[in-house]
Amino acid sequence: MTGRPVLIGLPYDASSSHLRGAARAPGCIRSALGSPAGNGWCELLVDVMSPPQGLEDLGDLDLQPDHTARGAIEEACAALAGRDQRFIALGGDHSITYPIVRGLSGRFSGLTVLQIDAHPDLYDEFGGDRYSHACPFARIMEEGLASRLVQVGIRAMTGPQFLQASRFGVEQIDMRAWSDGARPSVADDIYLSIDLDGIDPSFAPGVSHPEPGGLTVRDVVGIIHTLNGRLIGADVVELNPSRDPAGLTAGVAAKLVRELAGRFLADGD
Ligand code: MN
Ligand code: MN
Repeated sequence: MTGRPVLIGLPYDASSSHLRGAARAPGCIRSALGSPAGNGWCELLVDVMSPPQGLEDLGDLDLQPDHTARGAIEEACAALAGRDQRFIALGGDHSITYPIVRGLSGRFSGLTVLQIDAHPDLYDEFGGDRYSHACPFARIMEEGLASRLVQVGIRAMTGPQFLQASRFGVEQIDMRAWSDGARPSVADDIYLSIDLDGIDPSFAPGVSHPEPGGLTVRDVVGIIHTLNGRLIGADVVELNPSRDPAGLTAGVAAKLVRELAGRFLADGD
């Protein structure tokens, strides 16, 4: 992997099953990243917001609120992967992760996908939509785009998704297991997908599907810092600015972006 990690906005929320709004998240996360309330340094002591090493912002991808967005996302991510460019994608609803991983799959075989989320997002279809934000990890697994899917923070399992998890051999550390001390064990090439609703709504209230009883921000920062293997890309999804009037959740997203960028730089090329 080469060069500065990049930031790319994916302003798309047309596959949200409940509330729209996540399409406006990339701009809010950028504002939080640039806020004079903080600075550009991550906890690993790197200024991830300044050249020569810091994040390069590619801006937002031009996406239509329809099925064409998936092709555009896949193409953009395949191009980044083809240049060995590590990226952090700013969602957007969680449906974007399927075309992202599809875009990566040509360059990386045997990818481990680590998903932080309150919900498994494993429905075969939701509301008649197979590309809903409730379905991306079913698409990823049935197409064999990842060799392992490890889910952390799950606390809103349903019967149909439990069957899907068994079918696909999904590894889960639900909140009960997390509370008992279970931690993800991953290696090799890792794609990290962070649904902000994996974090407890007391820390990250500005999401479309808040689910109490979740991870702390510290838990997620710890996962970013300590996971084994090589992080080859990441997304931060499901911020809904209409549910985030004080900007607290955008601040959480920005914090995670800084720590992800720091992790990329700590991993080196
Ligand atoms: Mn999700
Ligand atoms: Mn979720």
